[in-house]
Amino acid sequence: MALWPTAPSWPGTSPSGFTMSSDRLDLWFIRSPSGGGRRALDLSALDDGERARADAFRRQADRLLYAAAHAGLRRLLSRYTGHDPQSLRFIREPCPGCAGPHGRPAVADPPVPLHFSLSHSFGVALVGFAPVPVGVDVQRLPREHTVEICTPALHPGERAELAAVPPADRRAVFGWLWTRKEAYLKGLGVGLSRGAIQDYLGFRGSEHPVDWTVRSIPCFPDYAAAVAVRHPAPTAAGVRCVPARWLDSTDAWRVEGAPAGVRMPLAAAGRALSSDLPWRTPCPGQPRACTTALTS
Ligand SMILES: [Zn+2]
Repeated sequence: MALWPTAPSWPGTSPSGFTMSSDRLDLWFIRSPSGGGRRALDLSALDDGERARADAFRRQADRLLYAAAHAGLRRLLSRYTGHDPQSLRFIREPCPGCAGPHGRPAVADPPVPLHFSLSHSFGVALVGFAPVPVGVDVQRLPREHTVEICTPALHPGERAELAAVPPADRRAVFGWLWTRKEAYLKGLGVGLSRGAIQDYLGFRGSEHPVDWTVRSIPCFPDYAAAVAVRHPAPTAAGVRCVPARWLDSTDAWRVEGAPAGVRMPLAAAGRALSSDLPWRTPCPGQPRACTTALTS
């Protein structure tokens, strides 16, 4: 289960590790349970709406991932807010386009400034927590054919960069670009209605939208993931995995602190950093995913 088994914890994160900090963004991966874990999955925290949405998925795998992601989200939020997972209420912020009640999802009456974003794709979910608006996206890498079909939707600058990479890296780089785009649009609260072509989120960080820091993050092989966070952005992100047993029982959450993760620097406001490419150091066991998609 551990993504980075040898990664140390980092300064500023206590072993319990669930305090919102203005200089840190927290990212959590949740994997869909398999085997016996499916039977053990504890969904008692979900509300009626979440159960209905889970049941509406046609594929069992999609149902399971949705349920695990939302159970995990509630339990993580419970740790950050001090509220019971079942008692958390969600609202929608006003849409930045029309002010209608369909903007970013948010927790009603959080005790501390707390924004979150959730994404899931083929057995993997990603949740981001920050004291400022945040968007995350995780996706399984698309097939070559899908890359071809979707490339015209990219910004012209991104298309040029994609055209310049070796064919063997195209899927990974496309996933890297597309997840940045979705993370940014989710952070804005507008989703893809804004159009993927409008914003440049490619290799040149200095040309990214002002007021946002958008970064790719380390992920599982054959997946890409990204985060967008509004300024004043935290200076670092902590990336961790929810232990599988935390999805089975609330007891584990009560007695165990946050697991160790990896620390990833985020750029200073509006500036490109060479460490925009955070994973020159390969994650243990995942070198290809980390070096192919995330270098320019
Ligand atoms: Zn709207």
